[in-house]
Amino acid sequence: MGNIKGIGENKLKKKLTPEQYSVCVLKGTEPAFSGKYLSNKKKGVYVCAVCDTPLFSSETKYDSGSGWPSFWDYAVKENIQTEHDNSLGVPRTEVLCANCGSHLGHVFSDRPEPSGLRYCINSLSLNFVPEGK
Ligand code: FE
Repeated sequence: MGNIKGIGENKLKKKLTPEQYSVCVLKGTEPAFSGKYLSNKKKGVYVCAVCDTPLFSSETKYDSGSGWPSFWDYAVKENIQTEHDNSLGVPRTEVLCANCGSHLGHVFSDRPEPSGLRYCINSLSLNFVPEGK
């Protein structure tokens, strides 16, 4: 049983690929440099792969060299939730979709200006909506 609010297991398994399910629901991590949005430089909005809530914008996306899509800010504050995560024995801050609870990735405070933050997000947790669509 997963962590997703208000969406049944059957519907989730229809909407998500097994790889997406393992990240969004089971809080896994896609292999570094494997994600389809890592090098995406198009203008648009990244929405939750589970519930389509807008989460991140191309405006704050940058190449962190980490192997995962990185953002220095969220698009809509209310749509992002963070939680303490000690699952690897190292304190980290997990980033989740505030609407459905889907796992997105982690946020680290090692980014230089402007925000000091690095949202390290799985491509599998996102869908990209190009500007004007
Ligand atoms: Fe969501």
